[in-house]
Amino acid sequence: MGQYVAPIRDMQFVLHEFLNVTEEFKNLPAYQEIDADIINQVLEEGAKFTQEVLFPLNHSGDREGCRFDAASKTVTTPKGFKEAYKQYVEGGWAALACDPEYGGQGLPVALNNSFYEMLNSSNQAWSMYPGLSHGAYECLKEHGTDDQKKFYLPKLATGEWTGTMCLTEAHCGTDLGLLRSKAEPQADGTYKITGSKIFISAGEHDMAENIVHLVLARLPDAPEGSKGISLFLVPKFLPNADGSIGERNPIFCGAIEEKMGIHGNATCQMNLDGAVGTLIGQPHKGLNAMFVFMNAARLGVGMQSLGLTEVAYQNALVYAKDRIQMRSLSGPKDPSKPADPIIVHPDVRRMLLTAKAYAEGARALTSYVALQIDRELNHPDEEVRKEAAGEVALLTPIVKAFITDNGWIATSEAMQVYGGHGYISEWGMEQYVRDARINMIYEGTNTVQSLDLLGRKILMDNGAKLRAFGEKI
Ligand SMILES: Cc1cc2nc3c(=O)[nH]c(=O)nc-3n(C[C@H](O)[C@H](O)[C@H](O)COP(=O)(O)OP(=O)(O)OC[C@H]3O[C@@H](n4cnc5c(N)ncnc54)[C@H](O)[C@@H]3O)c2cc1C
Repeated sequence: MGQYVAPIRDMQFVLHEFLNVTEEFKNLPAYQEIDADIINQVLEEGAKFTQEVLFPLNHSGDREGCRFDAASKTVTTPKGFKEAYKQYVEGGWAALACDPEYGGQGLPVALNNSFYEMLNSSNQAWSMYPGLSHGAYECLKEHGTDDQKKFYLPKLATGEWTGTMCLTEAHCGTDLGLLRSKAEPQADGTYKITGSKIFISAGEHDMAENIVHLVLARLPDAPEGSKGISLFLVPKFLPNADGSIGERNPIFCGAIEEKMGIHGNATCQMNLDGAVGTLIGQPHKGLNAMFVFMNAARLGVGMQSLGLTEVAYQNALVYAKDRIQMRSLSGPKDPSKPADPIIVHPDVRRMLLTAKAYAEGARALTSYVALQIDRELNHPDEEVRKEAAGEVALLTPIVKAFITDNGWIATSEAMQVYGGHGYISEWGMEQYVRDARINMIYEGTNTVQSLDLLGRKILMDNGAKLRAFGEKI
């Protein structure tokens, strides 16, 4: 089913030659030991894992999809997904860029970013299971209580447990101010949460022993609208005092959706029936806390489309060199054959070069943003941290919307290169188009990203961040 070869040389070009990351890491105390050899080694090992373990499960996972069992309320992921996840955890891949304090490997975000591209090129649906854990980890690290950090961060960092974001309800997706799930305070300081969430990615599955749901709900005294939303940590299984798996919490999957793409990822309806939760951050300030998750996830969605653009391009290129149809406008290019390979035709080249340009541009942009995150988190100078944070904020909606819009065009052009064969499942190209389409919708539609870019990132500081970035360019 097609091929995927991780573009290691292109990644090295961006990291070493374009961004010169090892020089930059010298200014970041946490990464002073990270040299080019370490980076190259991680890229090579990451390539092996994604090419050999995940890519072979991409097409089969799409065909098989997830199965829901209504009696046990459980989800079975496609054949091989669970075993691949075990290898991922045992290989330490989940922990790559997590804090060593919580069992992480403490490697730079800029390096993790390249690995994340490989994950998404090889299997977007699979990669969403660990992908969401990353956002949950970031959110708890910034806003969690000491207890929440102690019990949950090490398990999320190592990947033993996965995470979800439970925002959407049937009547509200964009406008979360309308949400109705309720949280009742209990005498012991916990909350009982009741409500129904829809479209929850990785809400239920068989790949990890516990799932850490981050749920938005309203307290009884909550003001109307988005200023009355609080964030809660609601585990599938409540941990015992020693951290082991305890009682089953009443947050159950009621059904999974049938959908256009990412069939290997379970999109779940989640019903909470007095599920026990603990508050993350301040009451009524849940959206602020959740934004840490959402921003990580928005960058992650941009990476999903970069991954799909790259793999679709690679396959289209191989096909265009092999498939022979018609002669070149400027005379035969391969007279030994009855026709020339289609790559000689200007329009085929246009399609290939469009996809290639989108992949290379997106790789450069997202690696740049990832490096700014490393500076934001680690630079000793507060001014530098602030400036980096500003750029990350400005570029996040661009990474999400621009790369996913382009990813849709690029996967479609790559499919077009195959002619009618692109439309036939066996070749795998139509899956890339179907998978790419959701990236323009979830994590805030691309329209919502444009509202965020203009309203919050540009107008709120009278264009200061945009000007500073423009000057840099
Ligand atoms: C496969 C899948 C996985 C998902 N995973 C998750 C998940 O893990 N967790 C989670 O919480 N949610 C998840 N979602 C939900 C997803 O984030 C929402 O579907 C999305 O944010 C849009 O919300 P909505 O579907 O309610 O559309 P609506 O909010 O009803 O929007 C409908 C249309 O109106 C437009 N619109 C709305 N407001 C404005 C405005 N002010 N100006 C201009 N246009 C506007 C939108 O852009 C859109 O085109 C998932 C959805 C899918 C399909």
